[in-house]
This record gives sequence, C-alpha cells and structure tokens, in this order.
Amino acid sequence: MLSLFTIYRRKLRGAGLNSGQVTLTFDDGPGPATCQLLDVLDRHGVVACFCVVGSEVQKRPQLVCRMAATGHKIVNHTQNHVHPFRISAPQLHAEIDSCDTAIGSALGIRDYTSAYFRIPWGLVTPAVRKTIRSRDLQQLMVTHYDRDARFGAQDRDRITQSMLRSVRRRNGGMLVLHDGCLSTPTEEDRTGWDDCPFNRSWVPESVDQLIHELKADDFQFVVPGQVRQRTRTAA
Ligand SMILES: [Zn+2]
Repeated sequence: MLSLFTIYRRKLRGAGLNSGQVTLTFDDGPGPATCQLLDVLDRHGVVACFCVVGSEVQKRPQLVCRMAATGHKIVNHTQNHVHPFRISAPQLHAEIDSCDTAIGSALGIRDYTSAYFRIPWGLVTPAVRKTIRSRDLQQLMVTHYDRDARFGAQDRDRITQSMLRSVRRRNGGMLVLHDGCLSTPTEEDRTGWDDCPFNRSWVPESVDQLIHELKADDFQFVVPGQVRQRTRTAA
C-alpha cells in the first residue's frame, strides 16, 4: 500500500525501466559537489537526471547550463524544496513555476517548462498527484534510496555497496543520491566535516565506483526518454 503514496517502486517496470537498465538521479543540487560529479559522468560517458531546486539553480546557474549541454535531464524539484504535507495544489503550482523560471533563466530559455518532476521527500499527496496530472508532468520514481543525505563520507563504501547489491538483485534500478545540500553548515559541522551529512563531497567518488562496477556487469545507463531505445543483451 505504501508505494501508492510514495515514489518508491519495488519493480523496475514501476520506475519505467527494462531489465539491465540503470538510471542515476541526483537531488537537491546543484551544490558544491556537482561540478566534480559532472566530471565523473563525462569521463564515463554516462547521462543522468538532476532533480534541481530553483533556489540552488539561482546560486549556480552555470552548472545547469553544463548539465543541459552534456545531455543530462534536468528535473524540476520545486523552488524551495517544500514539504508535500505543508503545501496546497496552488502553492505547488507556484513552486514548480518558480523552479522552471530559475532553470529557464540559467539556460537562457524564455517560458521554459519542465517535462519531468520529482516531489521533495518522495511523498505523493492528493494535491501532488492532482498538480502533476494537470501539468502533464512525468514523475521520477526511485527503486533504491539509502538515505545518503543523512550520512557523510565515512558511510560512502557502505552506501555504494548497498546500491550495487540493489541493482544486481533487481537487474537494474533507479537510484537516488544527493549532490546538493539545502542546509548551511555551521562551524561545529565543519569540525566533524568528514562525517557530516552536509558534506556531499564523497558522492562523486561513490558514483565513479558504481558506474565502473555496473558497466563491467554490462548494465546500461539510461535517462527517461531513451529507455525504450536501448535494450541490454542477455548476460
Ligand atoms: Zn530533495
């Protein structure tokens, strides 16, 4: 029953994927780790989905240009990362519009309209469902989430291995990691920076290892819109 109200999907089909396909999705950016993450993806020739927050797009518009120029999907993740339980349908429309405006101004495109959306916290309330439907947005699902945003670099290997196990068990998956952080670190956070969840610098290294291992296993990295164009030959 729970899956009806969240974006979590147990099966690949529920996330719009075929067997052998993996989609990497990154939430809450662009942040300080995003540039290095784009370097990793470029090096591997892999495209991913960036679920960007409008307020962060306004801070780092050049990274959104780079995402678009290198073929990544830019996904609307609202302007202020609103909690779905605290927002009405009209407010959510306004949040999506503002995020679209931020993306459009970064890309130099007037009246930019997102095709893809991910609700913050992954919770799909009736207002969220109604809004998505009325705007004809495609909601991005998740097959595996390790609560990476709650952990720092010391948990990098554990989270990476857990994602690898999930993909191998399901023969694919839509994974989520956080390249951005919406909290401002305090001096106290900085003293334990390696283990601080606000420190996202470990994410590019984790992704480097994930891609390396999953490519060796013959998985294909896809983004929505190209899922049906690619099929994996039987291993
Ligand atoms: Zn988020």
